[in-house]
Amino acid sequence: ESFIEMNLHPNIIQDIKLHKYETPTPIQTQGIPIALAGHDILGCAETGSGKTASFAIPMINHCLAQPPLRPGDGPIGLVLAPTRELAQQIEKEVRAFSITSAKSVRSCIVVGGVSMQEQRHDLRAGAEIKEVMARLPQRHQTLLFSATMPREIEALAQAYLNKPVTVKV
Ligand code: AMP
Repeated sequence: ESFIEMNLHPNIIQDIKLHKYETPTPIQTQGIPIALAGHDILGCAETGSGKTASFAIPMINHCLAQPPLRPGDGPIGLVLAPTRELAQQIEKEVRAFSITSAKSVRSCIVVGGVSMQEQRHDLRAGAEIKEVMARLPQRHQTLLFSATMPREIEALAQAYLNKPVTVKV
């Protein structure tokens, strides 16, 4: 399967070309069509497998499908990542796939300044995630990707995913 066959917005196809991705990786081949169909995903794929694009591309595609936003609307997509470095990497990739759409799709990164220790403690307790999930609009789609599936991640999936399709490579 190729990116062309995935029914993506032409702007994204253009950006994929600019970014020199020629063929989708296995997690992208499996995950992107499932995400585009509107399903929640529980994805298990190692670092380097291309999992960032497998959620970033459907997210941007969804942004491009929105009617014009009014002030106060949005954000349409939200990515939560456990570290600043990962957040920065994701932001770079999101930007890469929205270059052609820069007039209508904008992204920004928000990072905390508190200690790793404190964040780790809060995360263990599920605090961050819980508060964010509670503030989402009722209708939303969740794509949860992790390199490993320890009990904590399974618990998150159980709590927050709606009939997820499991994608594993
Ligand atoms: P990730 O697993 O998202 O951290 O991606 C790992 C690396 O693979 C990154 O440097 C990506 O830019 C690259 N990558 C992801 N998908 C593709 C693809 N379809 N073709 C070529 N490189 C890719």
